[in-house]
Amino acid sequence: MEALVARYRRLREEVEQAGATLICVSKYAPDAAVAALIDAGARDFGESRPQQLRDRAKRWPHCRWQMIGPLQRNKAKYIARFAAGWLSVESLACAEAVAARRADDQPPLPVMVQVNCSGLRHQHGVTLEAAADLCRRVDGLPQLQVVGLMAMVPKGEPVEAPLASLARLKEQVAIPSMRHLCVGMSHDYRQALAAGSTMVRVGSALFADLDIR
Ligand SMILES: *Cc1c(COP(=O)(O)O)cnc(C)c1O
Repeated sequence: MEALVARYRRLREEVEQAGATLICVSKYAPDAAVAALIDAGARDFGESRPQQLRDRAKRWPHCRWQMIGPLQRNKAKYIARFAAGWLSVESLACAEAVAARRADDQPPLPVMVQVNCSGLRHQHGVTLEAAADLCRRVDGLPQLQVVGLMAMVPKGEPVEAPLASLARLKEQVAIPSMRHLCVGMSHDYRQALAAGSTMVRVGSALFADLDIR
């Protein structure tokens, strides 16, 4: 676990120096590794499976559990109840399902619309053309609040052009609560921070090849 904690401290320092937020993507990490990071001060985690997000949010309620993967409508209740944020909104129907499951005493759930900047067909997210309309409709749901735009840039492709497109889109949509551009994963978080990303999602650079299983 010392190696994991050392990686985390270096990474967090680097991300904070850039004025951004680090999401530790724990989707494939065992509970023991998550516990070690929490001991080291980590509070922001990314999960892609709703039941695992629920289980970990119940076990560690003082941490913020962000949903970062594709969501099926029948899992909406887990996200509505237990997520601190949902960074991968890609349809109004699914957003409405989550909104409907949000309890009356819960504040609006911070969400990001996921944009497919590269236009590749197998990629998740909405097109740049469709994104502004989706942002406005989702933000119009009282139970959700759009706080940013998220994109995954395929390995080997530069992040600068996608980030510039997202920044233009954010200007165009002009929703005051929209402050985040969430681009950057293990392979490209440095470039993304340099190009203006405000939140990076890092999994394998933290957890890969550790002797923790
Ligand atoms: C898994 C995942 C990540 C983390 O990817 P790494 O390459 O392991 O850093 C980031 N974002 C999303 C949406 C993911 O599904």
